[in-house]
Amino acid sequence: MRSYSLIAPAKINLYLEIIGDSPSGGYHELAMVLQSIDLADRIDLRPIGTETIRVRCDDSQVPADKNNLAYRAADLLARQFPTAFARYGGVEIVIHKHIPVAAGLAGGSADAAAVLVGMDLMWQLGLTQSELQELGAQLGSDIPFCIAGGTALATGRGEQLSPLPDLDNLYVVLAKYRNLSISTAWAYQTYRQQFSSFYCAPDDVECRRQRVHSGQMVAAIAHKDAAKIGQLLHNDLEKVALPVYPQVLQLREVFQSLGVVGTMMSGSGPTVFALTESLAEAEQVKEQVKSAIASPDLDLWVAKFSNTGIRIASD
Ligand code: ATP
Repeated sequence: MRSYSLIAPAKINLYLEIIGDSPSGGYHELAMVLQSIDLADRIDLRPIGTETIRVRCDDSQVPADKNNLAYRAADLLARQFPTAFARYGGVEIVIHKHIPVAAGLAGGSADAAAVLVGMDLMWQLGLTQSELQELGAQLGSDIPFCIAGGTALATGRGEQLSPLPDLDNLYVVLAKYRNLSISTAWAYQTYRQQFSSFYCAPDDVECRRQRVHSGQMVAAIAHKDAAKIGQLLHNDLEKVALPVYPQVLQLREVFQSLGVVGTMMSGSGPTVFALTESLAEAEQVKEQVKSAIASPDLDLWVAKFSNTGIRIASD
């Protein structure tokens, strides 16, 4: 049995609307446009003879135990396919972390997606992409998207995906304060406390979902209209994060002042991204932000939109 190395790209949210409570209850009903970018973790999977799962990560912020989403993905497969686990044995998962942690970029979900794709190959399970996505949805609602990647409209909890035309003409500058993190649970709970009176009635959820399907952002993506996409960037969670985290607001304002195509917080934050139409422009914006905010705590990255989800590393 051979080892596998996989590339697990981060995502940004070009659009995040909280529609209301899901008709089945317990979750928020969302409408999101998700985009893969080429800032990615690398996951090495190595067979180990015994029936155990081990995780190592070069970032000490990331748990190296059962709390790691990548561990939970391997554990799920071991429970679903006990014969393969007994026959082939366990796996060592080594995570080379490049995606910032707790940043709104789905780093943990991307790692878990890579483990599902890689172990399917390693154990020769022959699962289809949609079977892998169904398994992934049991662990986290961003995992199905992370498996397929590209550009997609995500509804439900984020696990119901409609692929959109590839957007490969844009670059992104990402900015995050190293010591600042925002809990996803806090962001959604606070949103509920403040805005639940505006939630869509359960009977109207489907109608609102359809409105996003046929909405302006989806049309702008179909036309690869960068300026329009920039104008239509939207994230409801900014309503709770910006008033509480002035650093996030400041990043938004600095990006805005540099005349980028568009800027927005990603997911539940605190990463703020700005879109540009060329790599040169993205590098220039990154340098301008570095000079405008001379903080040793501020990390900046440049990445390109990516059409792929989990893939096998080429080297
Ligand atoms: P999302 O956008 O899906 O809400 P995120 O990008 O904000 O996710 P992650 O980087 O996935 O956040 O990390 C959230 C928390 O999950 C971390 O604080 C960490 O303790 C835990 N975690 C578990 N497994 C991983 C992993 N493989 N990589 C990063 N964090 C992980």
